[in-house]
Amino acid sequence: MNIILLGPPGAGKGTQARRLEKHRGLVQLSTGDMLRAARASGTEMGRRVAEVMDRGELVTDDIVIGLIRERLESSAAPGFIFDGFPRTLAQADALGELMRETGATLDAVIEMQVDDDELVRRITARSTCAGCGEVYNDITRPIPSDGKCTNCGGTEFTRRADDNEESLRQRLMEYYKKTSPLIGYYYAKDALHRVDGLGEIDEVEAAIAEVLDSVRSPAAARA
Ligand code: AMP
Repeated sequence: MNIILLGPPGAGKGTQARRLEKHRGLVQLSTGDMLRAARASGTEMGRRVAEVMDRGELVTDDIVIGLIRERLESSAAPGFIFDGFPRTLAQADALGELMRETGATLDAVIEMQVDDDELVRRITARSTCAGCGEVYNDITRPIPSDGKCTNCGGTEFTRRADDNEESLRQRLMEYYKKTSPLIGYYYAKDALHRVDGLGEIDEVEAAIAEVLDSVRSPAAARA
């Protein structure tokens, strides 16, 4: 089963992708994580990518399509969760082509809906476990009082360089200009499902599970 999680920065795509990995055995493909690994590598390409990311702009289609192609060709998995990819129509076309080449199918595109005020609130309070990537939020899901990550026990937490209000405004602008047309694109392909991303993490996970079960077994879901 291959799915795309679509939504603005802060909608909870990464958090839900990690749940899907844990509970459904799918593999998360996050272009944001891949690009953060590239910037940490200290290469010339990584340095250029870092500048673009910190400005809140999109990295070029060629780079991210190349990263996804590499992963799809080298990983065997029961299915992938595309998190933060595609983000442009050109990327969506390229993904369709890659899937055709590999004989894979796209089972569902899940649009996670969260209003802009909530996105700003979430992102400016966000921190991540340096050990495993578990996401915390000062307001809604603070780091436990013993200072240990609930997932891996790690004690180091980081804030993303682009998780500040200025960068976020630009990331939102990029989302509305370049990524939101994908909602219509996948609606027209009859693949789009909408989920309210405002609830508790467990509630959103349940709503996504309902979509995935209906896709896997449409007749049972109608019964
Ligand atoms: P994310 O972790 O998904 O929020 O992505 C962080 C940043 O990485 C974005 O603001 C972009 O600068 C870059 N990025 C991630 N995925 C893509 C993509 N599919 N296309 C272009 N840029 C991307």
